[in-house]
Amino acid sequence: NAKNHRLDSYAFYHPSMEAETQRRLDLIRRLRSDFHAEVLQLWYQPQVELRSGRLVGVEALLRWPQEDGSFISPEVFIPLAEYSGLILDVGAWVLEEACRSMESILEDVDPDFRMAVNVSVPQFRQRNFANMVGDIMARYNIPRGRLELEITESIVMDDPKLVAEVLHQLKSKGVRVAIDDFGVGFSSLSYVQQLPLDKLKIDRAFVKAAHTNSGAVIIETIVNMGHRLGLSTLAEGIETEEQARYFEELRVTEAQGYLYARPMPLQDLRHHINKSSARS
Ligand code: C2E
Ligand code: MG
Ligand code: MG
Ligand code: MG
Repeated sequence: NAKNHRLDSYAFYHPSMEAETQRRLDLIRRLRSDFHAEVLQLWYQPQVELRSGRLVGVEALLRWPQEDGSFISPEVFIPLAEYSGLILDVGAWVLEEACRSMESILEDVDPDFRMAVNVSVPQFRQRNFANMVGDIMARYNIPRGRLELEITESIVMDDPKLVAEVLHQLKSKGVRVAIDDFGVGFSSLSYVQQLPLDKLKIDRAFVKAAHTNSGAVIIETIVNMGHRLGLSTLAEGIETEEQARYFEELRVTEAQGYLYARPMPLQDLRHHINKSSARS
């Protein structure tokens, strides 16, 4: 939430402000031209069932490679894409690319394997969003229940009526919905329980703070809420066995993090899938 408002966060003039504004405008210009030149890539990070370690899906994550071999973080360029409006075209491409990849691996994965795709507020607010998603699923033969959209609490709190309507449309098309970074925005329980949601993703910041008293309180509140609402839960950013055990004991269903695998290009994902199915 605060993340998305970084661009407006200058309350008073500062000598470096103009330079900073210029830098952002340059970055937006470069992002636009790299997007059209098909420089952006979509990588995939495995999601596993905590109890068994079984591969149950992947999250598609944008990558913006630079000429020197480095990457600009999506934490930096997604807000710029949102601010400039470019996110609508980029987001449509991400959905399409994710579904194309999903179609290409569908035969090699378990029947409950899901492709998760992040969706920004401006995308979600488009008039025909649910239909657009349905069309893309049809084009790539994605069965019901196999595409999961990750939306943030800021979307949910943004325009409750519109959100409820769009979520029902998505549900009728067999699209699953997860709330990403859950706990950051403090959505009200009474509101969240009215929505047709499938999953709560516990933010990495809480996972990192699990060993502290307040961190554990927040996590256990979120997990309880998920259980009570009949939603599945996923812990993000799991890096250690200790964290994995903690969430398994809380009966959190799924996990994602460097302990299992980092985000990887499609080609590497294919190898990862082959290895995983050989093991089980
Ligand atoms: P997110 O959706 O919460 O994605 C999870 C982020 O956590 C990813 O960062 C992932 O690489 C990182 N991560 C996963 N496991 C670990 C771990 O064990 N340790 C650490 N330190 N990090 C871990 P990434 O790829 O940099 O993406 C950052 C954010 O950018 C995403 O957060 C999402 O909000 C946004 N984003 C990325 N791709 C897209 C996209 O296609 N569309 C939209 N709208 N947003 C995107
Ligand atoms: Mg996400
Ligand atoms: Mg997240
Ligand atoms: Mg996050």
